[in-house]
Amino acid sequence: MSVVQYFAFAGLPSQPGPRSPSAVPECGLTLRVSGPMKPGVDDENRARVFRSIGVATDDVVACRQVHSRVVRIADRTEAFRGLPEGDGILTANRGVVPTVTVADCMPIWVYDPVAGYFGVLHSGWKGTGILRVACELAADEWGAEAGNVHVILGPHIRSCCYTVDAERADYFRAGFGERCVTLDPEREAEGSRWPYRLSLAEANRDIALKIGIPERNIHDAGVCTSCDPKYGSSRREGQDRFVHMAAFIRVH
Ligand SMILES: [Zn+2]
Repeated sequence: MSVVQYFAFAGLPSQPGPRSPSAVPECGLTLRVSGPMKPGVDDENRARVFRSIGVATDDVVACRQVHSRVVRIADRTEAFRGLPEGDGILTANRGVVPTVTVADCMPIWVYDPVAGYFGVLHSGWKGTGILRVACELAADEWGAEAGNVHVILGPHIRSCCYTVDAERADYFRAGFGERCVTLDPEREAEGSRWPYRLSLAEANRDIALKIGIPERNIHDAGVCTSCDPKYGSSRREGQDRFVHMAAFIRVH
């Protein structure tokens, strides 16, 4: 059984080429069968799983995630030994392997073949907007332009399973466009407190398009972590028991 699922950037080759400036980074997500991958907690398992797929653990960087929009740049791995707080990591150093963990929140892989940076973000409802922050940081750091960025909106809890109340629905409509929220008439008729369905994919598509990422550069993995048991899911598995999956991006 496969322990990692790989994803490809739209319009770019899915298989990384030889080590060269044009080699496309590889985007992976460890599946539930790989076991828990929370940095600082499951380090033995992380080392075992990464080793099994040829990733040197010394190259891996991670943050202590706090559902923020804080994005860090990893020039080198040393500054990450103490797990600084944050929810996204970018690098232009092709020897560094940025990671985040997810379980219903969305991993977003980013790659700019022109500026030469790549990274991965953890974007749950609170962190929605971290994609914009990451692109602003890349503009400051590397002079990057959003028009060159490719993104993958990874597996997350989709609107089939993600119901929210009026307050959160309003927050998302106001910030991320009308399309990310729909009212479920059945749930409304039942008098549910959570009658709205929230699409984190539509919210992030709205962000991406507004900051200038071309539609053709946006790939949506299209699967729901809560529906499919091969993924870790805090909704399906329970708050105290869910498996943190690691999303990573690397050049090799
Ligand atoms: Zn679902």
